[in-house]
Amino acid sequence: MLMNNLFSKKSITILSILILCIITSIFLSYQMFQNSDPIPVPESSVIVTSTPSATVTRKPSPTETTIPIPTVSSTPKRVTSACVYALVNDETKKLLLRADKEMALPDGYEPEVVKLPLEYILQGWTEQYLIPETANAAMELIDAAKKEGHDIVIRSSYRSYQEQEWTFAYWVKELGLEQAKRESAVPGHSEHQLGQAIDLTSESVNWDLKEEFGNTPEGIWVDQNLHKFGFALSYPRDKEEITGYIYEPWHLRYVGKACSKEWYESGKTLIEVLKGIHLDY
Ligand SMILES: [Zn+2]
Repeated sequence: MLMNNLFSKKSITILSILILCIITSIFLSYQMFQNSDPIPVPESSVIVTSTPSATVTRKPSPTETTIPIPTVSSTPKRVTSACVYALVNDETKKLLLRADKEMALPDGYEPEVVKLPLEYILQGWTEQYLIPETANAAMELIDAAKKEGHDIVIRSSYRSYQEQEWTFAYWVKELGLEQAKRESAVPGHSEHQLGQAIDLTSESVNWDLKEEFGNTPEGIWVDQNLHKFGFALSYPRDKEEITGYIYEPWHLRYVGKACSKEWYESGKTLIEVLKGIHLDY
């Protein structure tokens, strides 16, 4: 009887524990069913699992505000300028020194010059000198013009600081200071002191330096072809406000072929090109 009672008590305890376990299981299953949302994935794990080329897109919820992200070009705009390159290159920048109303040449600037053969200069005129690069380019230009039937010669070329002093003083006496400044450079500011400038003339203008040269067949040929030989027209028509000088169709400045091509194509004045501001167009 006692044994029977004991067995019965033990059975009830085991049964109670079993029932409790079943109830707990049912309750837990119900809870899991209710919480069926996916477990949020930490952002760091997205970065780790994504490949460099993969793009993760996520649609914004209606309440989210989409902030526009500015697009940054992967390839920055490249400025290609033979003139700007030449201006910072030790080998070429000496050819692009500025000599204008604002900028003087370095004190005592005296380039190495060579004497020009007589057939390229005005007959009976004084000896003419240029730096070697400019001398070669000038002879090429005059030869090319001759092949096309245009007889052109050099009337002036290199002038030292002192020669420019005499030249400017002459024009002041002839024209007065104000007009002389429009037509001639004060010493230290002349492109002729560089040994890279030439003044051209022809029989059509009585071998003189005249504005009419620009309307002669020789002047028109020079205007259309000078850039092919590395020259630029320093003082074009209607640009006195920029250049400070009257129209001089006879005055050519050597800058090298790459830069002269860029000057020609930009449609800007040489002073703008030498300042690098022709790239703003
Ligand atoms: Zn000149």
